[in-house]
Amino acid sequence: MVTRDHLSALRRRWEELCAALQLSSPSHITLHTAELIPFIEEMGYHGRKLHWPPYMCGINSPATSLKRGTDPGCHMTHLLYPEPAPCKRALVVLAHQEKTSFNYAMKEAAVEALKKHGWTVTVSDLYSMKFNPLVSRDDITGKPQDSENFKYGAESSHAFKEGRLSQDIVEEQKKLEAADLVIFQFPMFWFGLPAILKGWFDRVLTQGFAYTLSEMFDNGKFKNKKAVLSFTTGGLQSMYTPNGINGDMNVLLWPVHQGILHFCGFQVLEPQINYSIAHTPPEKRSLILEAWQARLANIFHEKPIRFVPNQDFDLSFEAGFVLKKEAVADKYSGKYGPSVGQHMGRPLPPNSQVKAADTEP
Ligand code: FAD
Repeated sequence: MVTRDHLSALRRRWEELCAALQLSSPSHITLHTAELIPFIEEMGYHGRKLHWPPYMCGINSPATSLKRGTDPGCHMTHLLYPEPAPCKRALVVLAHQEKTSFNYAMKEAAVEALKKHGWTVTVSDLYSMKFNPLVSRDDITGKPQDSENFKYGAESSHAFKEGRLSQDIVEEQKKLEAADLVIFQFPMFWFGLPAILKGWFDRVLTQGFAYTLSEMFDNGKFKNKKAVLSFTTGGLQSMYTPNGINGDMNVLLWPVHQGILHFCGFQVLEPQINYSIAHTPPEKRSLILEAWQARLANIFHEKPIRFVPNQDFDLSFEAGFVLKKEAVADKYSGKYGPSVGQHMGRPLPPNSQVKAADTEP
């Protein structure tokens, strides 16, 4: 186990490094792998097997950062595990029927890049699996609680608790449970998800598995997982602006970001949007694939999109789950509404669903 002594030694070494580099009070320096190796050896850690809590996973990148701060252990893993850390698992859910499509190429690029950076990758290629997107009584094995008046939500939740969901749902739930990062790769259909992917959400995110009445949004079941929508459109980027003919992309993203992913607790990363892909020149498409792979090298360290936190709402039926008066007065009295959905009759915060914000509202 890593002990306090190890951490103290790292802190001491940090101070020495800062002094040697004549940095008065840096919060952050970057070293390359070649520079790190003597440091690791000097610290006496090289090649030693150390046990880390699963959330302390390093990334396998050619350059790494040493951060001064409250979480030295996390950054030490960069030093101690230049090889892939064992706990990074990604699930790529692909919703495209053609292997010659750009969406398929994006999936392939993601799998290749993630594996290169030490991830274990699982793919759910929904069309090739012939994934059934329709909720029905067949999703539940054994006797329903009330076959006369069958309520899917209650029956599926009960079946989940009793281990009676159909095998195809259980398989997808296992993949999702194991994943630290989930990438949803799809073409935009009718301003939203292809039906097969919508059906995956409908059937896999069973109550009890993906959420409960007390585990939603910030406190959701998947709060330690990250999710990213990666999709293509037919329309141009300009069409999806606040004065474009299709309307603001932030509005279109809100139902999936807030209503599905954030609802289940996911930290939602900035979407990877490839506008008008069929009319993009071939050489630019190759660059897009390269840029996607470059992003994936460090995706787990990205800042998620900001949503209004649970604590800003009165979370009771009496109060109606609305924004607290004090939150409105203290935090949300500015020019823009707090979010796309909670806009309070004011202009929407610009790009809140396509960019992670740096600052509090
Ligand atoms: P493809 O046409 O398969 O690929 C684009 C180009 O990339 C092709 O020339 C292909 O050969 C090339 N390519 C493939 N692999 C590679 C590679 N490795 N390197 C370089 N190039 C490669 N659009 C909207 O904007 N809004 C909507 O609401 C909307 N609704 C739709 C609803 C339906 C039912 C349908 C069918 C389409 C809709 N569209 C909409 C359009 C749709 O979003 C686009 O057709 C889709 O996003 C294009 O993605 P694709 O992967 O199918 O592209």
